[in-house]
Amino acid sequence: MSDVADLGLSTDDAFARYEAVRPRLPTASFPKASQHGQSLADVADRWDGFVLDAFGVLNVGDTPIPGAVARMADLRRMGKRLCVLTNAASYPRAEALAKYRRLGFDFTADEVVSSRDIAAAALPRIADGARWGAIAAAGDSFADIPTKITDLHDTADWSGIDAFLYLSTARWTPSLHAKLLREMDRNPRPLLVANPDLVAPREGGLSIEPGFWAHDVADRTGATLHWCGKPFPDAHLEAAARTGLAPHRLAMVGDTLHTDTLGGRASGMGTILITAHGLFAGRDTAPFIAASGIIPDAIVTTT
Ligand SMILES: [Mg+2]
Repeated sequence: MSDVADLGLSTDDAFARYEAVRPRLPTASFPKASQHGQSLADVADRWDGFVLDAFGVLNVGDTPIPGAVARMADLRRMGKRLCVLTNAASYPRAEALAKYRRLGFDFTADEVVSSRDIAAAALPRIADGARWGAIAAAGDSFADIPTKITDLHDTADWSGIDAFLYLSTARWTPSLHAKLLREMDRNPRPLLVANPDLVAPREGGLSIEPGFWAHDVADRTGATLHWCGKPFPDAHLEAAARTGLAPHRLAMVGDTLHTDTLGGRASGMGTILITAHGLFAGRDTAPFIAASGIIPDAIVTTT
């Protein structure tokens, strides 16, 4: 866990920050009211497939959510298509898949889409042939990203870096953030954010994720950043393509309003908010929904 995880952001802090950066997020229309249920089983008949957020829906940190493994099996028996869509970009999708299997889930490689993959595919479009400098977790070999990548943590002089790729906060610090701000001021370069989340729910509270720092870069430098992952449409549309279903036949299932619900609606999917785990665990979601106007199609307690 990174030392910046100790910034101690609360759910209210994260929500307020999401609202503040809303102009950078996609726009969407929402239903007037939400259907309520106890679990996905109560609302499953409305959709033919489900795009599942991982953190707060399948697992919290390294712990599976009780009943989630059995629910996935039930949905498959009902003939529903499934795809996991995760903003976890610190490690390759193969490791994410291995983790879900370890937790007891049976997803296939084709049923997992990570924002890291969306970002890898976007690199040539943004700066073809560039020398990318990555903000990454320790030991990342970048073997799954087919381009020239330098680990910024191993490099004191960033003057030869053509573009920045934000994958992970695992080793990021306020002093490195200050250095990135100086670099972007001195010589503005493309910055691709492979995880737009501000925070992620862990067993011990909320961790700070790349989006938290990246929005600060955008605020302070005026730079236009490139975003890959929920709530931006490329990620949701890739997940929909994996199911073979049109977006309107799918529901995006998640624990957040500004990533899962907003992104799901913006890409034409229905949306289901899980309230007992993840960002809103232990909180009444109604005031957050009213304040943001981000209204899920369905709200259920647990997966
Ligand atoms: Mg989540």
